[in-house]
Amino acid sequence: EGVGAGSGGTRFDLEKETELRFEVEAGEKVHLELLTGLAEVFGSELNRNKKYTFGPGSKIAVFTWQGCSVSLSGKTEVAYISKDTPMLLYLNAHTALEQMRRQAERDNERGPRVMVVGPTDVGKSTVCRLLLSYAVRLGRRPTLVELDVGQSGVRPTNLLIHNFLTSCLAEVFSLRCEENRKASVGGCIINTCGWVKGSGYQALVHCASAFQVDVVLVLDQERLYNELKRDLPHFVRVVLLPKSGGVVERSKDCRRVSRDEKIREYFYGFRSVSFFPHAFDVRFSDVRIYKIGAPSIPDSCLPLGMSQDDTQLKLVPVTPGRDLTHHVLSVSCADEGEEGAGGLRRGVLESPVCGFIVVTNVDTQAQVMTVLSPAPRPLPRHTLLIMDIRFIDLK
Ligand code: ADP
Repeated sequence: EGVGAGSGGTRFDLEKETELRFEVEAGEKVHLELLTGLAEVFGSELNRNKKYTFGPGSKIAVFTWQGCSVSLSGKTEVAYISKDTPMLLYLNAHTALEQMRRQAERDNERGPRVMVVGPTDVGKSTVCRLLLSYAVRLGRRPTLVELDVGQSGVRPTNLLIHNFLTSCLAEVFSLRCEENRKASVGGCIINTCGWVKGSGYQALVHCASAFQVDVVLVLDQERLYNELKRDLPHFVRVVLLPKSGGVVERSKDCRRVSRDEKIREYFYGFRSVSFFPHAFDVRFSDVRIYKIGAPSIPDSCLPLGMSQDDTQLKLVPVTPGRDLTHHVLSVSCADEGEEGAGGLRRGVLESPVCGFIVVTNVDTQAQVMTVLSPAPRPLPRHTLLIMDIRFIDLK
């Protein structure tokens, strides 16, 4: 390994069924080129003599089934070849899913619905990506269902709304499958949150039932595997898979940085695509801001006929003040005509959002706030939802 490969790169020769792992240093870029043989990155095949660029913080594995040589240029934190990978087991999982799709095609049934679970940093997203890429390379059209809000360091605090939205999503996916045969046969791969204890576990069980999953792939944790085998219906196939030694742990800070980066990309674009967001004032009187979920109160103190569920799904009006500054707000698509008698509440809970804005300044005197928005004024809707996420716009 590691021999100079002209053009400033380092050449790595990989034997079959091995992978080159590397991490890109902060503030740096790394270029990768396939020189000979065949190789893939998380299931996507590389083209020969094409330069692939990976940004700061990327953690990458270049895997080869047949053997290959590649060249790396730029600053990597580490770069090493590993012979010890679970790729063969992952490929077997893919093969089994593909058989289920064939059978579904033949018998006019639906294809596999797969849930990938495990604690944080075991490579759940990577396995999802791999299974999706392999399916797509065979001409399948599987759907990715991304439920891992923890990816960006967010803990689904309000479990009820999380489960409610999971059910809505499952319903929408089923409707799509009724209309679209390819989607139905392709099935879905569901990525889940790394929070696997207590309510987090309950959310997984809820998701399995909402999507009526056929297969659960458990990464790395035998305990979770046994619990799910015990609690899910017997016809659900629960499979334990090892994690890859290459998966890199991400610290809280690292997650926060990548979340900030995602928000920045939403407003300003990424790589060669630049977006130009708008800044404008919004009068308090022109919008209504809500938070979903009132703080929970002891059961004994709940008003008669009200359950804890009612408080967690409640729309609580928020009075605009200085503390709104830097908060990310979502703009709800809810039909504003449906106010009263719980209509707005249901509308808000079930509706998608049209987009996100950030409050960059609040003027309580003038009763206006300045917002950063991807679209020019006016806001398309007037119902705004506040969440805990903040973003400081340094541009
Ligand atoms: P999870 O979804 O379980 O939190 P991820 O799939 O996001 O974990 O993996 C964590 C990080 O490890 C990601 O940055 C991913 O690119 C990296 N990674 C995964 N597999 C490998 C591997 N075999 N070699 C190097 N890096 C890897």
